[in-house]
Amino acid sequence: MAQTRNDLHFEDLLNKHHLKKTAPRLRVLSMMSSRNAATSQPDLESVMNDIDRVTLYRILNAFEEKGIIHKVFDLNGTANYALCKSHCDEGHHHDEHLHFNCTNCKNVYCLNDLNLPAINLPAGFQPDSFTLYATGLCPKCSKKGVVK
Ligand SMILES: [Zn+2]
Ligand SMILES: [Zn+2]
Ligand SMILES: [Zn+2]
Repeated sequence: MAQTRNDLHFEDLLNKHHLKKTAPRLRVLSMMSSRNAATSQPDLESVMNDIDRVTLYRILNAFEEKGIIHKVFDLNGTANYALCKSHCDEGHHHDEHLHFNCTNCKNVYCLNDLNLPAINLPAGFQPDSFTLYATGLCPKCSKKGVVK
């Protein structure tokens, strides 16, 4: 099978995090990067029905631990996963971007490129992370004229 540029990039990513390059891991990465919204485990299961659930679960856990993907819960409390854009590390995520959950198509989008204002907490609070979350209609659904 011919390797695309992306496959190579994903192999580097696994190398960097000392994860063995396995076909299921590479497939999970390439599927996640091909979507513009976060992906839930059921979504992944339906596309990769030849990978068993336990394997998939372990892949997602390992990726999250290593700082390759981050988890975001949608309105229904389902975990969705998205690739980390920047400087996430093993045990340290820095995904303080806004997550937008569309109430119509249920997609969760990572809005990485917004410049968010610094949030200054009262003295004594030492946050490890922030969760910024918005709900409403995504561009696709608002264009279709979905009524809220
Ligand atoms: Zn992260
Ligand atoms: Zn939508
Ligand atoms: Zn995100």
